[in-house]
Amino acid sequence: MKIHEYQAKEIFASYGIPVPPGEVVTTASEAAAVARKIDGPVVVKAQVHVGGRGKAGGVKLVEKPSDVEAVADQILGMDIKGLTVRKVLVTSAVEIETEAYVGLLLDRASKRITYLVSAAGGVDIEEVAEKTPELIHKLTIDPVVGFRPFHARWLATKLYKDPAQVKAATGIIFNLYRAFMGTDSSLAEINPLVTLPSGEVLAIDAKLNADDNALFRQPKVEEMRDLDAETDAEILAREKGLSYVPLDGEIGCVVNGAGLAMATMDVIKHYGGEPANFLDIGGSSNPEKVVAALDIITSDSKVKGILFNIFGGITRCDDVANGIKAAFAKKKPQVPIVIRLTGTNEDLAKEILEAEGYHALTTMDEAVKAIIAESKGAAS
Ligand code: GDP
Ligand code: MN
Repeated sequence: MKIHEYQAKEIFASYGIPVPPGEVVTTASEAAAVARKIDGPVVVKAQVHVGGRGKAGGVKLVEKPSDVEAVADQILGMDIKGLTVRKVLVTSAVEIETEAYVGLLLDRASKRITYLVSAAGGVDIEEVAEKTPELIHKLTIDPVVGFRPFHARWLATKLYKDPAQVKAATGIIFNLYRAFMGTDSSLAEINPLVTLPSGEVLAIDAKLNADDNALFRQPKVEEMRDLDAETDAEILAREKGLSYVPLDGEIGCVVNGAGLAMATMDVIKHYGGEPANFLDIGGSSNPEKVVAALDIITSDSKVKGILFNIFGGITRCDDVANGIKAAFAKKKPQVPIVIRLTGTNEDLAKEILEAEGYHALTTMDEAVKAIIAESKGAAS
């Protein structure tokens, strides 16, 4: 789960990381009121769950408080990478001397928490990572040793020469690790961590992604969920208990079981197709879940065909067939459908689907080939 910058800053501040003062608002007149309180230059920042807001025009430095209302009005309602800006953070602007990057993530290759820092932080960090990776310093954290103050100090020396700044950064780097662990996060980032002419070190951007599987024990983070910032499909998937990840392709997939869903996506790619999503309807399927899955998939206009791939172990194929029947009775998708069912009550399921005019296939290979061929037909 993603949270907004202003929420991540609240959490970081509670762990002792210095951030500039600010307030989040939803209207331009409220933004102007916050700016009057701050009484000096401010930055108006779009609060959306996506990076690169600065480059997209969603972060604006405003010198005169009298201009804040107009700037906030322009940013509110703006579309950034498909997300509508509904909130802005109005924060005290600072004079920046240097911009560094500090981030923590779970590295799947080493299966360890990894710290990344770079003195070349700011809006071009992706380019730095790609073109000059030697400017990024990495520390893989050994779970037995843990993250110790000397590790934080070593990372801080990669950012600054000035002893006072190294000391300040050591504290920030250590506290960011505490915030990451304390909130069960999968990613924590400060980009940029800036130095001011006074020498002070400050976090002026903040990012924190929570691990969904740990939210049950992170009620404060869970409360930060912003339903307005999620797509309808994501909200529906969560409500119905479906694991759903949208992708860029054209073939919608409804599959029971995460492993089978991954295999289905692999086979689609193997035969030259592109999956539109990962969607796991879970082990015990009921018609309601199938209806929700179809609603989610058909809301994606890129989808040119839908493949059902169901293995009936605990799930009974006839349940799924009835789910498909109920879903189509409610709303029949306008794209080709291929259904592959095998396992418990397979014959019963086929009878149900054939009575509805659908043909159910038995093997994954033939089903994937069929949906790719049919979706190409639909596209032309
Ligand atoms: P992002 O583009 O979504 O990562 O948003 P950031 O919060 O990182 O802001 C983007 C850039 O705007 C930063 O890298 C800074 O260069 C600039 N910026 C943000 N806040 C301030 C500020 O208070 N003063 C100045 N001078 N620049 C700022
Ligand atoms: Mn940033």
